[in-house]
Amino acid sequence: MDDDWEHIAKRKGGVIMGDWTLQSVTAARGQKAHGHVYAPGLSSPLPVFLIHGVEDGPTVVVQGGIHGCEYTSVDAALQIGRKLQPEQVKGRVLVLPIANPDSFYARSIYVHPLDNKNLNRQFPGDATGTASQQLARFLFEEAYSQADALLDLHGGDMIEALVPFSIYTVSGNEELDTKAREMADVFGIKYVIADTGQVMGATDSAMAQAGKLAVIAEAGQQGILSSEWSQQLQDGVWNVLRWLGVIEGDVKPTETQLLHEFDWYRAEEAGLWYPSIGIGEKVKAGQEIGCICDEFGEPLHRYHAKADGTALFIVTSLAINRNDPLLALGDAE
Ligand SMILES: [Zn+2]
Repeated sequence: MDDDWEHIAKRKGGVIMGDWTLQSVTAARGQKAHGHVYAPGLSSPLPVFLIHGVEDGPTVVVQGGIHGCEYTSVDAALQIGRKLQPEQVKGRVLVLPIANPDSFYARSIYVHPLDNKNLNRQFPGDATGTASQQLARFLFEEAYSQADALLDLHGGDMIEALVPFSIYTVSGNEELDTKAREMADVFGIKYVIADTGQVMGATDSAMAQAGKLAVIAEAGQQGILSSEWSQQLQDGVWNVLRWLGVIEGDVKPTETQLLHEFDWYRAEEAGLWYPSIGIGEKVKAGQEIGCICDEFGEPLHRYHAKADGTALFIVTSLAINRNDPLLALGDAE
């Protein structure tokens, strides 16, 4: 029946008479559209750009703002949505500049304000779960599952200093992993983390499990909108779009360094956090990297590097809660 077909095609974001539709936002072939869609698990509408090329090609999702205070990622995705024109595109590009507008407007660090869960631990989501799980399900079903590749832009959160790095999941599917590694290399951020730990519920691991390409790219920090880091994320997206054949042009050569270790340190207890190393600093195994003190300045817990590594992010909030991340060290070994 026609109604059924249209319903199914719409639900899949499918092609109807050449149109690409996500709820009420429609881009015919060779057109670009932007507007808001309504997602379960959100109290605010979700802004989207649909850029629908004339010729066939891959479908790519570019998104920022899974974590609402990672402003550089939001700006970079927004600029891609504004600059990319359908005449340039072979295939389709869906841009989600603010993937969690509730977190963005609440200025919520790490978590979705409706359920206090980290959205980037909920994929592929659950339509009957809490707000983050419902939103993750919507994003996975309506956006990522129709994509060949996901470029998920992040950065240091409001209270995190960070040197840019990217992450891809090592899934065990050799062909997929080789391509994901190559996509991370092409993105061009110096440090590339091959994540074998497979952070459960992160976008890149959920995509890898579905047999699809994904890279998480991190640049920017501490609630500061940096045009320099935004540009680095945008440059990475443009280069990957060339590599995928979505836009024309030579892929620019890049130089990256592969890191196999990505060790997070977390707070054993609440208190005042005094890191003793700087962002990007190389540390030796056993070196003191920070201390949590009580409210009278007495040391409660001193942290030492478990292995050699480079400080990729450091939490810069003096106030620290039990189980909060403190910093992460990346290493080639
Ligand atoms: Zn993030």
